[in-house]
Amino acid sequence: MNDCLFCKIIAGEIPSKKVYEDELCYAFYDISPLAPTHFLVVPKLHLASAAEITPENAAVVGHIYAVIAKLAHELGFAEGFRVVTNCGEAAGQTVRHLHFHVLAGTTLGSFN
Ligand code: 5GP
Ligand code: ZN
Repeated sequence: MNDCLFCKIIAGEIPSKKVYEDELCYAFYDISPLAPTHFLVVPKLHLASAAEITPENAAVVGHIYAVIAKLAHELGFAEGFRVVTNCGEAAGQTVRHLHFHVLAGTTLGSFN
């Protein structure tokens, strides 16, 4: 996806502050953090949103959650964090490349 901001970040064409990288995903700090710890985890495969997850590509989501759990332990916030993915404009998605927000480091209000 030539015109995708997060594909450009994954490719290193736009700088980012890397948290973690492997063959399937890339994690980097959000440019406008909403919590003391706020980073994004994205699949390297371009998927526009969670609405494009299928049985064929869903394994990357499990992989991303395993990476998030590993980072939660390594970075010391495993006792409390939130994972959010906004899907579609109506839900506040502004970058159309699937991404998981990881928020931690503060008391997070309840979310129903
Ligand atoms: P969304 O609103 O789509 O769920 O989340 C997009 C997130 O990407 C926002 O939290 C926004 O701050 C972050 N973001 C947008 N542009 C950039 C950028 O160029 N670099 C980084 N690190 N984060 C970005
Ligand atoms: Zn992309």
